Amino acid sequence: MAAQLLDGNVVAQGIKDAVAKEIEALKARGITPNLAAVQVGDNPESKMYIGMQKKNCESMGITYNLRPLPTDTAESGLIQYIEKLNEDKNVNGIILQMPLPQGINPRNIQRVISPRKDIEGVNPANMGMLFYGSQKIGPCTALSVMELLKSTGENLKGREAVVVGHSEIVGKPVAILLLQWLMDSPTVTVCHIATRDLELHVRRADILISAVGKPGLIKSEWIKEGSIIVLVGIKRMPDGTAHGDVDFEQASAKASWITPVKGGVGPVTTAILLRNTLEVTKRQLE
Ligand code: NAD
Repeated sequence: MAAQLLDGNVVAQGIKDAVAKEIEALKARGITPNLAAVQVGDNPESKMYIGMQKKNCESMGITYNLRPLPTDTAESGLIQYIEKLNEDKNVNGIILQMPLPQGINPRNIQRVISPRKDIEGVNPANMGMLFYGSQKIGPCTALSVMELLKSTGENLKGREAVVVGHSEIVGKPVAILLLQWLMDSPTVTVCHIATRDLELHVRRADILISAVGKPGLIKSEWIKEGSIIVLVGIKRMPDGTAHGDVDFEQASAKASWITPVKGGVGPVTTAILLRNTLEVTKRQLE
């Protein structure tokens, strides 16, 4: 069987089109969503992401304001800065660029970002809302996995979903979101670094979501025939190539659906960031 491509660019475009329509309507009312991007220090890794975020926001009609802070900013100073943004009526959304310099605990900052402006869904209140299942704002990559799965049109009810990776921004929220359909949910297993027999779990997976970032971790012979695979974990190599936790070509021969390494989860995550920005803006108008 040759898998169908779970094309992130197509899914992302659908989300962006819907967002653009709503932003147009807001603009007609004289409202332009305004996103403050807080960057502490000058990490070269975040530079590329900031450029992409800015381009995407501006193409959508969202104002993107980069707020650079010096590398030696103390945690208390950053907290005060975020508190001011929380109060600022001109700022609708806040995004915190990672990584933060050593000495600043991201959790202490995420906790301070107002849940009403938290477009990354990382504030504990927004994380907590995931348990209720009706949230619209949540960690962007986790929501992106859900959009990709929904786009297959497949019924996941009662099927075996295996999530590999249990981080706070991907693995854990994906597992919770997979349970949001209550009686229609798949059965969810979460594997992680301490899992004793990863092969055993992957072999059972009708839906495999791999979010580790270790190419070759999942052997293609473990892939169940007809499974749906979402590759979140990707490692970029020095030669410019990128590889998923499972080999794309080999897994494609067995899966029914699979995301490409490039143009899979990434573009949908960006589209969700825009949708979250729209969502917080709309809520502030209510
Ligand atoms: P993380 O380092 O916080 O978590 C990695 C997870 O992998 C951990 O939960 C750990 O338990 C698990 N793990 C490590 N070794 C394992 C092993 N041998 N067997 C089973 N599980 C193992 O990383 P993260 O932030 O969750 O990101 C994971 C991957 O997803 C990375 O490759 C990252 O680049 C990618 N990612 C992509 C996007 C996107 O939008 N495309 C966004 C976020 C993360």
